[in-house]
Amino acid sequence: MGLFFSLSHRTPRATANTTVIIQRLVDYLNRGADKHSDPETRHKILITNLFGFVGFALTLVMGINAFFKEIWLLGVSLFIASAVFFVSLEHQRFFRTPTSHQISGNLLQLNLSALMLYLVYSGGSNNTGPLWIVLVPPVMMFFSGLKGGLRNTLLFTLCYCLLVFYPDNALVQVHYSDEFKTRLLLTLLTLTVLSGYYEHSRFQAFLQIRELSAKFEQQAHIDPLTQIANRRAMMKQLKGEYSRATRHQESMCLLLLDVDHFKRINDIYGHHIGDEVLKSISQLFVNRLRKQDVISRWGGEEFLILLPQTTEQDAIEVAEAIRQQVEEFTLEQAGKKVAITVSIGVWAVDVEESIDEAIQQADKLLYLAKHQGRNRVIATEGKPSINTMEPQ
Ligand code: GH3
Ligand code: MG
Ligand code: MG
Repeated sequence: MGLFFSLSHRTPRATANTTVIIQRLVDYLNRGADKHSDPETRHKILITNLFGFVGFALTLVMGINAFFKEIWLLGVSLFIASAVFFVSLEHQRFFRTPTSHQISGNLLQLNLSALMLYLVYSGGSNNTGPLWIVLVPPVMMFFSGLKGGLRNTLLFTLCYCLLVFYPDNALVQVHYSDEFKTRLLLTLLTLTVLSGYYEHSRFQAFLQIRELSAKFEQQAHIDPLTQIANRRAMMKQLKGEYSRATRHQESMCLLLLDVDHFKRINDIYGHHIGDEVLKSISQLFVNRLRKQDVISRWGGEEFLILLPQTTEQDAIEVAEAIRQQVEEFTLEQAGKKVAITVSIGVWAVDVEESIDEAIQQADKLLYLAKHQGRNRVIATEGKPSINTMEPQ
């Protein structure tokens, strides 16, 4: 009642203190996990820390209890186990290697096995010690996966059998009935099968989720029609290239392309031919440009191309080459050649301006290219770099 009263009337300061303590504990258990991007590894580190912490606290309390009951050897064994649990818990902090959590996991399994076999040997408190061995299969499966877990659990089971079924109870300090020994063995085997099955299903589900999320991640960044990057992917790349260009003081350029009179193509040949045109010219860009260039479908029949480490002059040459290639490209439809041309705005990015501002500049140049007759490249405002056609 007193506890209830004190909890339900806690001052804001007490609540804040509790929150801080819980947060500290969560941080402590998450230690080392933040360095890994893989969720499975992060989860493993958290559980390794949690298991190490619980093992450390539990064996410490049980050790003190054994000392109070004057069971000295059991007390010392529990203290040793507690110390090893603590070492495995702290291991990650001192040796910050990518495999630290695996070493901690192996140490935990070894420590647990040794402690369990000692409890079987000594009987623990009132001969109840062996009951703890039911922990072994799930723990082994978790830390070593299905194969390693099965191997470790079977090895442990063999040791258990050797201890308890050795003739005349010669390898144990206490007497266990035959029923107890056999039932515990059956329990151990049943738990091994169940934990193995659970681990297998968990891992399969994890693989499926990972595969699905990789697929969704890819779909979220690829334009389904042309199979090139979509707007979202381009924005991501632009951010990355912006910070790279700023760091290394490099120049980069944007090409904004728009298919000329695309509506006409749709109207004359049909929407499906319009789609074919978009696919074909996307492929043409992919074949023409370098690996490091990013080609995206920016919208309907508009494409945004990022040319990293490229000067304005080089970008103009590239844009002109693309323009010519599109013009020369032939898509035959019912014996007739579908004429395709593009207008291109070329903008040399100044990293002082924002991404949106840079795109707006390229858009202005594209607008000029359209205004001045289409099928042309315009690089700086008002000054067409190449005039290939008379204004239409
Ligand atoms: P301009 O030279 O001024 O760019 O003229 P335009 O006809 O290309 O421009 P407008 O914006 O008037 O028309 C663009 C057309 O592109 C209209 C739209 O139906 C078509 N379009 C947009 N996305 C797709 C697509 O995925 N497939 C097809 N077939 N057509 C598309
Ligand atoms: Mg157009
Ligand atoms: Mg357009």
